[in-house]
Amino acid sequence: MSSDYEFSDDDVDNVFDDEDIEMQDDDSDGDDGGDMDDFKVAPKTTRKAWEVQFDSLTQASIEKLMEKDVEHIRGILGVDESKAGLLLRHNLWNKERLIEQYMDNPDKTLIAAGAAMPEPEPPRPSRRPSRKPKASASPKSDTFVCSICFDDAPDITPLSLDCGHAACSGCWSAYITSKIRDEAEHACRCMAEGCGLVASDEFVRSAVDEDTYVRFEELLVRHFVACMPHLKFCPYPSCTNTVSCPGAASKTSLTTVVPIVSCGARGLASTSSGSMTQSQELTRQVTGKEHKFCFGCIIDSDHRPVVCGVALLWLKKCRDDSETANWIKSNTKECSKCMSTIEKNGGCNHMTCKKCKHEFCWVCMGPWSEHGTAWYSCNRYDEKGGVDARDSQSKSRASLERYLHYYNRWANHEQSAKLALDLFAKTEKKMEEMQITSALTWIEVQFMKKAVEEVDKCRMTLKWTYAMAYYLAKGNQKDLFEDNQRDLERAVEDLSELLESPIEPENIPTLRQKVTDKTVYVQKRNSIVLEDTAEGFLEGRWAWNATVEGFEDPVPQDP
Ligand SMILES: [Zn+2]
Ligand SMILES: [Zn+2]
Ligand SMILES: [Zn+2]
Ligand SMILES: [Zn+2]
Ligand SMILES: [Zn+2]
Ligand SMILES: [Zn+2]
Repeated sequence: MSSDYEFSDDDVDNVFDDEDIEMQDDDSDGDDGGDMDDFKVAPKTTRKAWEVQFDSLTQASIEKLMEKDVEHIRGILGVDESKAGLLLRHNLWNKERLIEQYMDNPDKTLIAAGAAMPEPEPPRPSRRPSRKPKASASPKSDTFVCSICFDDAPDITPLSLDCGHAACSGCWSAYITSKIRDEAEHACRCMAEGCGLVASDEFVRSAVDEDTYVRFEELLVRHFVACMPHLKFCPYPSCTNTVSCPGAASKTSLTTVVPIVSCGARGLASTSSGSMTQSQELTRQVTGKEHKFCFGCIIDSDHRPVVCGVALLWLKKCRDDSETANWIKSNTKECSKCMSTIEKNGGCNHMTCKKCKHEFCWVCMGPWSEHGTAWYSCNRYDEKGGVDARDSQSKSRASLERYLHYYNRWANHEQSAKLALDLFAKTEKKMEEMQITSALTWIEVQFMKKAVEEVDKCRMTLKWTYAMAYYLAKGNQKDLFEDNQRDLERAVEDLSELLESPIEPENIPTLRQKVTDKTVYVQKRNSIVLEDTAEGFLEGRWAWNATVEGFEDPVPQDP
């Protein structure tokens, strides 16, 4: 992840060992025990076991919180607003620690934050680089020569911070703009060598253009948010919202909850103001993709039901093994009967060869007839049966086969979800045409939309269940997990197939009934998977076959 912040998580953790009383007025307390209790209590609200409590905040409301802190420090330390801001930023917004340090040694604290100069020392011209011979600490009375660009034009304006190290306004502007734009740095120290004074917000405002100042304000907000363990900035491009999620503020909480949150915004922000009409803007807000992301890790999508540690482990594995796995992502396969090439062009895994009419499963290549009965075991890596069907001879081959089994299904759900959305776009168009040519109402042709959305959601759940199953230790719990996974997968594939059936005005009423019933069922199966997995995490029921951060070490077993 690209980071705008120059300190590591550890720094933040250390600074926030102390209780932050002010912030706790409107949030639940910061200690882990308290938060955990919140999650173990049977939900009195409608919140599900797999959901976390969170709030979304705009940039303006974060700025209000910052102002409140600045005001607080200003009152206690008796410094001006600008100094209070610099002190807080330098001390990572930890008010208690700042006050303590200031009381102990105010000068030292101010100097470290770049809010004051050290005691004046006699100038030491010998330390100046020889390439700046004309450099001058204070403007001469007759002509000013910029110490950076050596410009001595009579009309240039010398500018300096309180230290008096002057440079021309052009140099200041270029310097601060580059700090903000290129380095994402909000603390712009004086350009003079060895001078640690930081430019005030007022100075920055006067030195840069409006767009750069907007970026500067955003950097301040991002810095504040990064300092607060219970806050996270929305990772979607151009979005400036923040999410508050106290229940996922500590690392230990991430072994029991999957903190999927949303900043409240949708779609992509308009790049420049006025480039979108009002109705375009409205469409974006209504139909755009919700800004959903994980509060606990860097994954900017919903990875429920699996916890961050396992999800990240899986993604790393996929990255490392992507070369080997590449071939499997291919979109064509050969019919196992007549060997003619078949392209997958829908989300459904029930394939029928155009040439020989052989029906088979896209994922396991087995005959579809076996999938239609109670003996639906496509989701399991059945080691006994697998040995015959797959040519796994050596142990390393077997472990690759095992990985590919899970990876193939993982990737397929993602691919199928994409294809289903494409197909839906076509279907929706067709149905809207039918609305014109037949007696159907708009409402009557909308039933597919809900179903497609549900399939999409469930395929994301299924996708991550394969990451989970790959790392689950063998045993009863894994078997139960895979039972639930199989039931959801079966229901999703059924609904998916239904969505691809031909649509004619006369079959719409029956189709509608079938699709609606199946959608409800799929929803139910998805809830079962999400809920049971979430409860398992709270109960500490899941054991892994690999080392996962925050969990007990795995019991040795065969891979
Ligand atoms: Zn200059
Ligand atoms: Zn200076
Ligand atoms: Zn957002
Ligand atoms: Zn996560
Ligand atoms: Zn065939
Ligand atoms: Zn299959």
